[in-house]
Amino acid sequence: MQFENTLAFAKTLDEQDALKHFREQFYIPIINGKESIYFTGNSLGLQPKTTQDYVLNELEDWANYGVEGHFHARNPWMPYHEIFPQQLSKILGTLPEEVVVMNQLTVNLHLLMVSFYRPTPQRYKIICEAKAFPSDQYAMESQVQYHGFAYEDAVIEIEPREGEHTLRTEDIINTIKQHRDSVALVLFGGVNYYTGQFFNLKQITAAAHEAGAYACFDLAHAAGNIPLQLHNWQVDCATWCSYKYLNSGPGGVSGVFIHQKHIADASIPRFAGWWGYTKATRFKMEKGFEPIPTAEGWQLSNAPILSMAAHKASLDIFDAAGMELLFTKATLLSNYLLFVLDDINANAKEKVIEVITPRMDADKGCQISILMLQKGKAVFEALLQNGVLSDWREPNVIRVAPVPLYNTFTDIYTFGQIIKDIINQ
Ligand SMILES: *Cc1c(COP(=O)(O)O)cnc(C)c1O
Repeated sequence: MQFENTLAFAKTLDEQDALKHFREQFYIPIINGKESIYFTGNSLGLQPKTTQDYVLNELEDWANYGVEGHFHARNPWMPYHEIFPQQLSKILGTLPEEVVVMNQLTVNLHLLMVSFYRPTPQRYKIICEAKAFPSDQYAMESQVQYHGFAYEDAVIEIEPREGEHTLRTEDIINTIKQHRDSVALVLFGGVNYYTGQFFNLKQITAAAHEAGAYACFDLAHAAGNIPLQLHNWQVDCATWCSYKYLNSGPGGVSGVFIHQKHIADASIPRFAGWWGYTKATRFKMEKGFEPIPTAEGWQLSNAPILSMAAHKASLDIFDAAGMELLFTKATLLSNYLLFVLDDINANAKEKVIEVITPRMDADKGCQISILMLQKGKAVFEALLQNGVLSDWREPNVIRVAPVPLYNTFTDIYTFGQIIKDIINQ
């Protein structure tokens, strides 16, 4: 498509947008009396207008039924988590039995490492991307230390080449090959939170397996943002949060994927709890843990119903919109944003912006990370004053994520105009 950086063109794209009515299903935060331009759905997705009802229903059922709500609530709480795998399997490309919704993201990272990071004196290394999200770094650091290894020795961080911002797949693969005698786990983000780079999970997984290691991914910035095929790619395990692109509320429940080839393998060690126990005999309350032979076998505790109700409200919207339309619009939004940014550079005396997110559709999702070459902080402040919520990362990066459920092409056009005005001042 031939883009134009004009209001008329942006409005035409909005009119043609098959998903345009979904925006009305969300609360858009108000800044200075107007709807903001919300580009931080990668950090905390917006609240669907249906969420309150979903949560209130559970509060009502609790009031009406007390403990009997476990069986008699409109959505009985005992099997509540069982409603998610069908919907999530479409978003993540999994079999339903490979997915379970539980806990929080960092907790789940630790639980997955208990099962899939089992170092030996020879094979004990974790390979990850440099500048992984801090919580992931701390999780890896504490895990290797827990097993008696030193971070500097046990964790191999892959850095971009000199003068580059993102990683080349060949460099990732070569690093894995180099450590083929000592690597136990390859643990990458799906999308790097800082650069927005989407890694080639399929190739990374194949390389990990060739080296005799497991491949696990933190999909916090990928789930609901990019089409995934975790099952077909043979990924061993993964986890994500639900409050970023999945719009399920602050601190919302996390999800876990464990590949079919591992789910019934009772020899894989895990930290166990009663909710992971075989359902038919769970309430006999006997000694000796017998896991459910699906990803549910990794559950510890009974489900946090209020967070899960919010998750359900959001996933029903994903179902109604359909993943294909969402991903098609996401690609168009991010490419239009790139076009507008390039147009700002082309019309400036000196280059204003360097995009550090890869440009190819296969290597990115919604998020575009912009390295400001001049007036960075001033631009960021002006954006906020003009009702644009974006995200500032030191030293000079603005991250913006136009998401297909509630952002518009006009949002992107307006964003570009604000930057232009500041640069020309
Ligand atoms: C958002 C995010 C987290 C946050 O972890 P919580 O346990 O949900 O607080 C962790 N890792 C990555 C990669 C993230 O993007």
